[in-house]
Amino acid sequence: MRPIAGGLCAICGERLFSSYALSAAENEPRCGLCRRIEPAFARAVAYGSYEGGLRELIHLLKYAGVRPAANVLGRMLAEAIAALELDFPAESIPVVPVPLYRTRHRHREFNQAELIARAAMKLNPAPGRLHLCTGVLERKRETPSQTGLTRHQRRENVRGAFGVAQIDVVKGREVLVVDDVYTTGATVSECARVLRRAGATKVWVATVARTLKASGQRVEIQLSGNAAAEDISAAPEVPLARAAGI
Ligand SMILES: [Zn+2]
Repeated sequence: MRPIAGGLCAICGERLFSSYALSAAENEPRCGLCRRIEPAFARAVAYGSYEGGLRELIHLLKYAGVRPAANVLGRMLAEAIAALELDFPAESIPVVPVPLYRTRHRHREFNQAELIARAAMKLNPAPGRLHLCTGVLERKRETPSQTGLTRHQRRENVRGAFGVAQIDVVKGREVLVVDDVYTTGATVSECARVLRRAGATKVWVATVARTLKASGQRVEIQLSGNAAAEDISAAPEVPLARAAGI
């Protein structure tokens, strides 16, 4: 469970391969997707790759209900948030966990994003500036599982699924959205979109884990602009070792 290292997209945190990173002769290298469409969020950071032990730890919390796992994940989230600290404004920033739909929340008895955020806030990653605000976002409908969907399908799946319940908290402010996993970014992008529409000046994103493009998916780099190639990069949750054929 090591933090992500190497060349990453300065906006969404996707892995950049050396050939690509070298050709991006700029301070803020961007992946093909972030070059084509400006995301609704300013920057997304993650602690580690969504595979192996980190993936197991998240599953332990989400599906086995092992709540103490949230403390470990919270430490990781705090570390990811600390990477944004220099970009944060001087004034206080609402920290908004991605909400679950109420029936799922009731069934699981907790929102993992909120538990992890709570644990992270105890470690004070940007001293004095972050405060947890639950209930700012609401999930207006149940969204079918995103597993197995392409990037495009994921975007459609979450479109209109979120609303801002407390506009006064975000209006004219920069906001930090937190979640457990960033897969294609469809969920946090939709959250960022509605927050911006409600008046948030900037939306930052921090997650514990992120799926990263494996070397076997390098094809997207050569075929930048090709929609079919995008779907390859959206292949969810493939452990890097397996995708690379190791
Ligand atoms: Zn990117």
